[in-house]
Amino acid sequence: MASRKHRHPEILKAFAEQYDFCEAQSWWTCEEWPWRLEIHHVMGGRNRIDAPWNLVRLCSGAHRWVTEHPIEGRVLCWWILHQRGAFDCAAIAKATGIHPAGWIGSKQSDIRLPWVADLAGVLLEVSE
Ligand SMILES: [Zn+2]
Repeated sequence: MASRKHRHPEILKAFAEQYDFCEAQSWWTCEEWPWRLEIHHVMGGRNRIDAPWNLVRLCSGAHRWVTEHPIEGRVLCWWILHQRGAFDCAAIAKATGIHPAGWIGSKQSDIRLPWVADLAGVLLEVSE
């Protein structure tokens, strides 16, 4: 359960206005019907924090894939954050206790999709 101090409606609103497209569109045919844009929290559960380093805008099809593939989905979302300069390993570690490089390293052998494995490799190189 996320604590109330992690809820920031104004951050969500500004984020949704700035990113009014599916950020996974390079990998997705964003055609699922009904089509809608969702705000995905990369770190969910009790780490479901409304902060720029934790938010990705996804169409409904991409969002469903990300939630159904928790490892590959998180890698893809972190890569999206990296692409727009918002992959903040220090912020993630401070807020959640999970260090992206350590997490990716521990999950790498579970990544089955080659294109996601490639993204994970890039993230390991850029995460400090
Ligand atoms: Zn999409």
